[in-house]
Amino acid sequence: MIGRFAPSPTGPLHVGNLRTALIAWVMARTSGGHMLVRIEDLDRANSSLANEQRQLAALAALGIDHPPVEVRQSERFDRYREVIEHLRSRDLVYECYCSRREIREAVNAPHEREVQYPGTCRELSNRQRAERVESGRPPALRLRTESPVLIVDDVVAGVHESPVDDFVLQRNDGVPAYNLAVVVDDEAQGVTQVVRGDDLLFSTGRQMHLQTLLGYRTPQYAHVPLVVGGDGERLAKRHGAITLDDLAARGIEASRVLQVLADSLGVDPSTVDRAADVVSGFRLSALPRTPWMIPEQWRDGAASGN
Ligand code: GLU
Repeated sequence: MIGRFAPSPTGPLHVGNLRTALIAWVMARTSGGHMLVRIEDLDRANSSLANEQRQLAALAALGIDHPPVEVRQSERFDRYREVIEHLRSRDLVYECYCSRREIREAVNAPHEREVQYPGTCRELSNRQRAERVESGRPPALRLRTESPVLIVDDVVAGVHESPVDDFVLQRNDGVPAYNLAVVVDDEAQGVTQVVRGDDLLFSTGRQMHLQTLLGYRTPQYAHVPLVVGGDGERLAKRHGAITLDDLAARGIEASRVLQVLADSLGVDPSTVDRAADVVSGFRLSALPRTPWMIPEQWRDGAASGN
């Protein structure tokens, strides 16, 4: 198996991201493979090398090792555009002039549940097209589909229906879209196993559809439940101490964090000194299928200690 962890360097990794990385690493290892790290910095304005370095340092502190990073999406726009041109040559691409807001909802936030694109710009008459061109708004590029509903057979989340719409391949500012870049890179890097948060499950049908169109393999998918704070909401800064640095400042060391994460995966923490010990104790069947709530001691306002 070749797994991958694909963070966007828009901030530090929190313990929820680190838990997902640990699962990806352990799952690749248990099947005799390894995990790659890919930097998903399509959103150049909000990404930075400093964040990337901090993220890699956090993985290293937990003992999650990987080959040197080879793929930064910001360096691969030419490749993504080549693939879009190939799809266009097959009449599978059309210009979409819908509002920025709609495009932002559909593309810029892969984690937000999104509306299926209703196909507004799919079959414009010449006159309608001319009006839109005249408006001066640059178009996004969308994939022409028959709106299939794909079945995702996920080794953690189970079987899910995933509807595919005419999703965006390139935003109207010219930046290639997440779903396209991920599919192109997973193929280019020989990825056979995708472990990530289950907030991306709903985009998986789109990615599988693209894989089929491009003649790529579909990797094995494992979507793991997100991490939540004490209020049951998805983990966010307001939940307090959530990065390794935050925890270190309160005297909780990386080795202890690793044990707590191992425990949350169903691995006996008393057997864990280093990351490799998590591999020996890991059973996919013991991985909880419900969101993990971060320990109370790790939340803001709690007395320090572990
Ligand atoms: N880059 C995405 C993120 O940071 C993950 C995409 C993926 O794993 O497919 O959440």
